[in-house]
Amino acid sequence: MLEIAELSAGYGPVRALDKVSFTAERGKITAVLGANGAGKTTLLRTISGLVRPDHGSVRMGDTKLTGLEADRLSRLGLAHVPEGRGVITELTVEDNLRLGALGGRGRKRIDLAETYEMFPKLAERRHNAASTLSGGERQMLVIARAVLAEPTVLLLDEPSLGLAPRIVSQIFALVRQLVDEREMTVVLVEQNARSALQIADHGIVLNLGRVVGDSPAADLAGDDTLRHAYLGF
Ligand code: ATP
Repeated sequence: MLEIAELSAGYGPVRALDKVSFTAERGKITAVLGANGAGKTTLLRTISGLVRPDHGSVRMGDTKLTGLEADRLSRLGLAHVPEGRGVITELTVEDNLRLGALGGRGRKRIDLAETYEMFPKLAERRHNAASTLSGGERQMLVIARAVLAEPTVLLLDEPSLGLAPRIVSQIFALVRQLVDEREMTVVLVEQNARSALQIADHGIVLNLGRVVGDSPAADLAGDDTLRHAYLGF
């Protein structure tokens, strides 16, 4: 479980997060939704220690994460898949996966069989350079790589960005499967609110750095006022 309490952060005079509080439960997907500039990326960057908060705290179970270095956070089981699908393009798919497994809390013996079972597209392309992958395959690769470090908390930033609806559905289904099989805590940042709410258990809506909605996903999807005002569908 991840507990965010009164988290405030910004960039110089820009206040990107203003006393944001919510809890992401274990074994559940918590979608963080909101328009461009709402503060979603900053929230993930603050949870994973890349942005220093001005106020507030982040806890994982009994452990306070605020102020800890990135490598310590990764050893504690936190994984962050940022926007942009960064892979090492010159390396093969398999080498990118092996690199991912080196960090975090990964086992000594890297078991790619399980990964390939879950991501058959990556198995097919295992000996190809990552540069040859499609956008959807690259997104699968960065998620698979993060999962090899065996995180308990997985932060995903806009995995659907720029992908065709069919590919988005595949990726979201994989995320759902991972959560259900491994009891991970997932925080899913998305602008594609409609699709995200279909797989999420819970939703948080941010507007100008503040929480304006915090409800079960089905309730958010059925809240016409909130949907029209902040979610764009
Ligand atoms: P997007 O979907 O466009 O990434 P977002 O909801 O993720 O939007 P953030 O990227 O967290 O929002 O941005 C929140 C606010 O902080 C915005 O006003 C943005 O302009 C500002 N901001 C973000 N990054 C920086 C930065 N590096 N320097 C200055 N201001 C920034």
